[in-house]
Parts: sequence; C-alpha cells; structure tokens
Amino acid sequence: MLARNESIATIAANWLAQFERALAGPNDVLLRTLFHPESYWRDVLALTWHIRTVNGLDLILKELKAHVGRANPTNFRIDPDRTAPRLVTRAGTTAIEAIFEFDTADGHGCGVLRLTDDNDGSALKAWTLLTALDELKGFEEQAGRSHSNGKSYPRDFRGPNWLDLRKAAVEYAERDPAVLVVGGGQAGLSIAARLTQLQVDTLIVDREQRIGDNWRNRYHALTLHNQVHVNHLPYMHFPPNWPVYIPKDKLAAWFEAYAESMELNCWTATEFEGGAYDEKEQRWRVVLRRADGTKRELRPRHVVMATGVSGIPSLPDIPTLRRFGGTILHSGQYSDGEAWKGKRVLVIGSGNSGHDIAQDLHSSGAKVTLVQRGSTMIVNIEPSAQLQYALYGQGLPLEDCDLITMSIPLPLARRSHIALTEQAKNLDRELLDGLERVGFKLDFGEDGTGWQFKYLTRGGGYYFNVGCSDLVANGEIGLVQFSDIAEFVAEGARLRSGETLAADLIVLATGFKGQEHLIRRLLGDDVAARLGPIWGFGETQELRNMFVRTAQPGLWFIAGSFAQCRIYSKYLGLQIKACEAGLLPRS
Ligand SMILES: Cc1cc2nc3c(=O)[nH]c(=O)nc-3n(C[C@H](O)[C@H](O)[C@H](O)COP(=O)(O)OP(=O)(O)OC[C@H]3O[C@@H](n4cnc5c(N)ncnc54)[C@H](O)[C@@H]3O)c2cc1C
Repeated sequence: MLARNESIATIAANWLAQFERALAGPNDVLLRTLFHPESYWRDVLALTWHIRTVNGLDLILKELKAHVGRANPTNFRIDPDRTAPRLVTRAGTTAIEAIFEFDTADGHGCGVLRLTDDNDGSALKAWTLLTALDELKGFEEQAGRSHSNGKSYPRDFRGPNWLDLRKAAVEYAERDPAVLVVGGGQAGLSIAARLTQLQVDTLIVDREQRIGDNWRNRYHALTLHNQVHVNHLPYMHFPPNWPVYIPKDKLAAWFEAYAESMELNCWTATEFEGGAYDEKEQRWRVVLRRADGTKRELRPRHVVMATGVSGIPSLPDIPTLRRFGGTILHSGQYSDGEAWKGKRVLVIGSGNSGHDIAQDLHSSGAKVTLVQRGSTMIVNIEPSAQLQYALYGQGLPLEDCDLITMSIPLPLARRSHIALTEQAKNLDRELLDGLERVGFKLDFGEDGTGWQFKYLTRGGGYYFNVGCSDLVANGEIGLVQFSDIAEFVAEGARLRSGETLAADLIVLATGFKGQEHLIRRLLGDDVAARLGPIWGFGETQELRNMFVRTAQPGLWFIAGSFAQCRIYSKYLGLQIKACEAGLLPRS
C-alpha cells in the first residue's frame, strides 16, 4: 500500500502541480483523474467564500469549475515551513497527508491534501482536499511580522501616551464600533482578538462584572476537561508551566489578562438588550444597559453573538413540581453546595451539569439522589475523553493540528468517532458495568458516534467522569429513573413503588434552550425565522449558522470548544474584514 519509489513529498507536489494544470484546463478530463469517486472537498472561504463540504467526484468537479474562474487559485506548493508530507492513518485509512499553500485572487490560502491508492493500486488520487483562506491580500495580519504597522508610541511629552489612547479607544465617546461582540467568554475573546489584529474596530460587551466571571462563577472544584495544549486562545498560548487541566479561577484570570494584553475593548456589567437592523443604512441599532442602569445605543455594522449556551434555561414541564415545598433551582442558579450540608437533594438531569452539581453537593455533605431522565453517555475524563485529541499530543505545531483537524470532512469524522467511542467503551468497561448494575441507562450517541457528536448535534447528553459516576456506581449518590417518579409532593418525589424520596432542594439540571430562542427574544421573530436553527447539522455537513454569513446581514455566530473558537474565529474574522473592505457582500 502506498509503496512508491518517489518520496512522499514528491508525490504530493506532483499531484498539486497536476491539480493546478487541471484547474486551468479547458475541460475536466485531467481533473477527473485526480480524485477518487468517493472523495471530499472542504472549502473554507478560499475558493467559494463559504464554509462548505462536497463529496463525490462529479459534485467536486462541478463545484471546482464553478469557482476557479473567480477565485483564480494558483501557485500550489508544499509549504516548507509546516509539517512535511507524511503517511498517516485517518478514519482507519492510510493516506499521504500534505499541507500546502497557494494564492487566490483575494489572498493567500493553505490546505491539506490526502492521497490514497486507487483500488487497483495503480494511481494515488485525492481522498480528501481542504482549501482554506489564510490571509487577505492587502490586509495581512501584523502579528508575527515586523510589527511595523506605522503605529508606534513616540516619546512625545505632550501627546497622548499608550494609556490615554487605550482609554479613548474603549470609551466609544463619539464613535461606534464596526463590530459589537456580545459575550466575553472564549468565543467572544477569540473573535475580538482576531478582528483587532485585522484592525477592525471591535467592542465586546458582557453582562458579568469582570471578564472571566463566566468561569469564576462556576462550581468550586471546576478544572477544564481537555488538556491545556488543546485549549489555547488565538495568538497567546498558555504558559508552558501550566497544569494539564486548568482550574477555573486561573483560567478566569488569564481571560482578563488576555483581554488586556490583546488590547480588546470590553464593556463589562453591560447587557445587550436587543437591536434591529437598518437595511438602508446597513447598520444595527442596538441597546446596551450599562452597570449604572443607563442605556447606550450603538450603531455597529456587525453583531457577533458569542453568548454561549447559558441563555435561557430549559425547564421541563412537570405539573406536579409546583406542589414541592422546598427550594427549586435551575442548574444556572446553582453556585455552591455549602448551604445544603446535611440536606436532601434531588438533582434532575444526568449530563455534565447534573453530575457536577450532584458531586459538589455530595462533597458538601448533602444526601444526593440523581434523577435520570434519558440515557446518557459516560466517559472517564482520562484517558477516554482525551482520545480524540491525540493529534495535539504528537508534537506538531498547534496551527498544523488545527488545520489537520479542520480538514477531516464530517462523514470521516463520524467514522473516526465511532472507533474512538468503541475504544473508550473498552477502557471504561469496569465503570460502565458498575453503573449498569445500579440501573444507570447508558448510550453511546447516534450510531455509536459518541460524545463529540452529541455535543455538535444537541450540545449535551454526556458526562466526563471526574468521580461522580463512581459515587453513583457505589451507591454513595442515589439514582432513580425519572420514569419511576409518580408525582412530586410537598416533601419530595413519590415513586411508583409508593416510597417517598424526601428532599429539601430540587436542582433542575435540564440544560438550556437553543440560541434561536435567545435570538427571538433579543432580535425578534423575523430575524429568528430568517435564521432557522443555530448549531447542529440538519441536512448539511457544516454547523448551521456558525462562523459564516447568515440570512440576516450583519449577524454572525461563534460558539463551541476552545479549539473550535480558536480555529473558526480566524475565518469569521476574515469574512468580517472582507465585508468591511468591500470584498464580500454582507449576505
Ligand atoms: C466543567 C467544565 C469543563 C469544561 N472544559 C472544557 C474544556 O476543557 N475545553 C473546552 O473546549 N470546553 C470546555 N468546557 C465547555 C465550554 O467551553 C464552555 O462551556 C464555554 O464557557 C463556552 O464558551 P462561550 O464563550 O461560547 O460561552 P460562555 O463562556 O457561556 O460566555 C458567554 C458570555 O456571554 C455573556 N452574555 C450572554 N448573554 C449576554 C447578553 N445578553 N448581554 C451581555 N452579555 C451576555 C455571558 O455573561 C457570558 O460571559 C467545559 C465546561 C464545563 C462546565
């Protein structure tokens, strides 16, 4: 398999040369010989100005031909400064993987090519191809270059110094930002940093008192679930001496330092109350409520929603719950278990929040019962939950890991995740058996695709076990199925068996409503209807409304893991810059 006399680098370079010739050719005869019948092309803005995956030879040829004329991609070459072409196994298939670069009419691109054997072993053809815009011509980022953007801070004893300029920039006394970012978590910070580097005037607003409070206010024992090297924000990596799993307050402090160091304009204690788009002026009119209760209207050309998932609580319709005489809290209102020492608590919901809150209460001395509403995927935090990040632990540069991650088309990602889920299931066998013995209902995602796809399709339905599953399996935390509860009564829950589970507190760890509900509340029914569902895949191979132009001009979304925010903030930033520069229509 793949044994050739030529070097891997030469094979990849030759394919790229042929590809360039074929794209310029009068017909698709040569192009047709370069791809397998079952192949994938993902374009991230470079040729199509969209994020889009097409698969199958005919469709790829059609799409390529439709876009090469305008995009004019040329000068395809292996990038000598990046990971060299090599043999890899992706989604169970051995392939030559090469990172390359090229130029287009609008900018500089990079991509990942994967070549595999033809069925008869005669020719190496493209199995997957990623083309991604890396930089816009004329608007190259200054970071990592000479920093000589002409804006220095002269030692002028009378003129404004750096601090004066920063204060004026943040104040927005007599100007509007081009972009308003709603939310200063990792999503908002990432896109604001990218836009600021691209010299797009950007303001972040967050209703919390301080940047980082979205982590500070979470439960006491929280440390991140992924390892530190996967979670870097753009441009400024976590220091090399940091712990593998970052504790929440350390992360919160980093967020604040990041905003300061990257010179991000932030208004904290400021709530985005809503807005409307002025079609004629192509601007938003948005209303912000400041810390002192005053309102400020701004007129940005773009609004980026980076509000996370914790917008509107999803409350289950349980009519008898109103009979309960104790306290009821949604997980979003829960902060600490101390007050519930010695009390009896029912936690309804068995995803990450439900488990984490149950464990926090248990460790505070409460008597906790977890109420399971539906089957749940359980994954030990180590090593199982880390399996999918193996690439990031292989010593490659972060940018190459990100590009390779982005280059795996959705159907192949599903295939990989089925294999990883099987591996995790075997590694976690003892725990999973223990949970089943106490009646916990397990699942492994649709078609066995595991937690990552649960996250991407519904944003939950799994728990990374940091100890709570062990407490459930050994009975220290009780477990009942929601279907075994006949009704709620003043003292707690009455089970179908006739027994009453007494409780002082019921926590509804039942998740949050989708972003579309928040949009309806903040921007109105029309905008919500125009956009449709946000997040999840629907019929497409890309997340809906995420990181791209939407049906509402000037409205953008960014969300997801640290890695997703780091990766896709780059492309979201490039699109907004291109709109601002008149290179790209706003819708
Ligand atoms: C225990 C735990 C561990 C995790 N570990 C990891 C990990 O290792 N790696 C990883 O990638 N992810 C991890 N996550 C998941 C995920 O990254 C986070 O949930 C993250 O907070 C999402 O970031 P965000 O910026 O999209 O949203 P958020 O962090 O929720 O930030 C949204 C911000 O928007 C603000 N906001 C919302 N509405 C408004 C409004 N109307 N006006 C003004 N401001 C508003 C909020 O105040 C908030 O600060 C973990 C989550 C938990 C709970």
